[in-house]
Formats: sequence, structure tokens, C-alpha cells
Amino acid sequence: MEEKIVVIAELSRGRFTRATHEVISFARELGSVGARPEIIIPGKNVRGLAEEIARTSGIDVIGIEAEALDLYSAEPFKSAILDVLKDMNPAYVCLPHSAMGFDLAPGLAVDLGTACITAVEEIREDEKGIYFSRSMWGGKIRAELVPMTQRAVLTVLPGAWTASVEESGIAGSVRVVKADFASGTSEITLMEAPGERESELPGADVIVSAGRGIGKEENLGMIRKLAGIFSRGAVGASRSVCDLGWLGYKHQIGFTGRTVSPGLYIACGISGAIQHISGMKGSQMVIAINTDPHAPIFNIADYCIVEDLTEFIPALLELVETAR
Ligand SMILES: Cc1cc2nc3c(=O)[nH]c(=O)nc-3n(C[C@H](O)[C@H](O)[C@H](O)COP(=O)(O)OP(=O)(O)OC[C@H]3O[C@@H](n4cnc5c(N)ncnc54)[C@H](O)[C@@H]3O)c2cc1C
Repeated sequence: MEEKIVVIAELSRGRFTRATHEVISFARELGSVGARPEIIIPGKNVRGLAEEIARTSGIDVIGIEAEALDLYSAEPFKSAILDVLKDMNPAYVCLPHSAMGFDLAPGLAVDLGTACITAVEEIREDEKGIYFSRSMWGGKIRAELVPMTQRAVLTVLPGAWTASVEESGIAGSVRVVKADFASGTSEITLMEAPGERESELPGADVIVSAGRGIGKEENLGMIRKLAGIFSRGAVGASRSVCDLGWLGYKHQIGFTGRTVSPGLYIACGISGAIQHISGMKGSQMVIAINTDPHAPIFNIADYCIVEDLTEFIPALLELVETAR
């Protein structure tokens, strides 16, 4: 019997997340070694979505519907997914490495008795098997892992694969099952977005991003001035800067922040952890300013400026001022 690779789809406001399409691309690549992808969609009303993705991807889809699957919560999701998986016995179960994915994956792996490898960024195959790569220690170390079990649950780092855009001529099959739950031990009673207004990041041509290397909140002034040089410039930040409270989380770029792809991205005092890079690596040009010549951000930068930003940026602003 042909092996299966199951993709657990993630929905946000009734749509598939981009990370879901990336996991489908990942599953296709993994499937090139002999297993066939299938998609499971847990949610409240998923028939329309199941038919849409089966039509566009050509992949067979199983929708699982229940009132309790309207908003993500580990207990009902895990129980519903396991119920369907027990008849499938897939080689791999793949999820986005998102808040949902990394919450759900370990529990699924425990119940399925499989390995769990998270935040996969690359796969490599040789005659001995398939190897999964991920970053550790904020991108300073790359680890390669192999599951010690025959099957595995995997989470895929957002941004590591390009979202699947393949259109298939032949639609996959669609099956929608109803799930039934006894009440769990917890329940979501409210979910609301923070009241902050949308930041200007999505429409920016140039993003000047501040990292912990700016040293202190007062130095944001020079970052704002630099962004202000450009008519469609905006200020971004690493998570460290947001965690320090120097900028609001609407400015955060990266895996748990926004994904941006401006024409120019200027990283100021940002080390280049994989979680940051995953949110900005689609930028057309990257300039990085960092005192450490070995900072990982320089691996993806087009222009590497090894300088103290507190000296370099004021000097640059002065030059621009003079030129004007
Ligand atoms: C689950 C998870 C999700 C995460 N999501 C995100 C995310 O979405 N976005 C994100 O950014 N991070 C995220 N992180 C955190 C991430 O791993 C890093 O810790 C973070 O990006 C580091 O921020 P930084 O580069 O500003 O700080 P640091 O790593 O501390 O780097 C500071 C850099 O500034 C340089 N520097 C210091 N002084 C100067 C100076 N005077 N001039 C120039 N350079 C200087 C240093 O050499 C250093 O490279 C996440 C982590 C986890 C575990």
C-alpha cells in the first residue's frame, strides 16, 4: 500500500494560512521519495475549503467538522485529528511551525508513538534515509535530525518552503466527517485582536529595522529618521526590541511577527536569528549594520556594514542632509 504524508491545514478567519500552503509544498517534496500527500482540515464549516483545495492542488482532502473546532484549542483538535489518523497510519504528519502547529505536534507524536521534529527548514535524502535540518541557538547552529521511529510528526518553519501554487488538472477527492466531543478540560471563551492600529509595514518600500544592538530606546530616534528619508519608509523591529517594550509588537518582523518583502530592508543591530530572517528574507535587497563581522544576518545581506550603528547612522543622516 502506498505510504501517506498528511498535512494538517491551519485556518485563520476562514482561509488557509500561507504556512499551510508552504507545508503542502514541503509534503510534495517529501512525497517525491514515494509517499502521497493528503490534507486534513479541522474546522467548523470546512466543506467549501476542502473542495477548493482539492480542486486546486489535486490532493485528496479530509475535512473534520465540529462546533468545537471553530477556534483552535489543543484538546478537541488533537482528539479529532487522531480519530482520523488511526485509519491512515501515515508515514509523516506535517504541520506549520505556528502557534497551532507547535502546540499540537508533540501531543500528536506522543499519542501516535512517533518521533517529533520541529521547525524543519531543509530536507536531504541519501541511501540511508531522509534527514531533517533545523536551526538551534538563534541560528548559530544547524542540526540535522533523523527520526528513530518509522513514522514522524514534523513542523515546518514558515518561510522555509515557497507556498504551493501548483494548479492541478485533476481534483483530489473530498470526504467530510463530523466529529463529536465530550467537553474537554478547557474552553476558549474569548479571542480578540489587540486594539493597535495596523502598522505601515505591509505597504512600505523600505523598512529600517531596529534590533537589540541599538542599545537603548532613545536610539530609536535615529532609526525613525533613517526610515523617514524614504517616502514609503517604515520602522520594523526584532522581537527583542518588542520584548523590551521599546516598540509595539505590530512592528515585529519574523516568525511570530509580520512577514515583509520590501524593496530594501535595513537591519540595524540585528543578529539574524532564523526566526527573524523567516519574516524578511523575501526582501529584494538587504543592508545590515552590525559590529560583529560574524553575525548571521551577514549571510543573507547584500551589503554588510561592520560598524557601530550609533556612529554610522548619524554620519549617514548627516551626509543625506548635506546632499539635500
Ligand atoms: C518561538 C520563537 C519565536 C521567535 N520569533 C521571533 C520573531 O518573530 N522575530 C524576531 O526578531 N525574533 C524572534 N525570536 C527571537 C530570536 O530567536 C532572537 O532572539 C531575536 O531575533 C534576537 O533579536 P536581536 O537580533 O535584536 O538581538 P540579538 O540577538 O541580541 O542581536 C543584537 C545584535 O546587535 C549587534 N550589535 C550590538 N551593538 C551594536 C552596535 N552598537 N552597532 C551595531 N550592531 C550592534 C550584535 O553584534 C548582535 O548581532 C523568536 C524566538 C523563538 C524561540
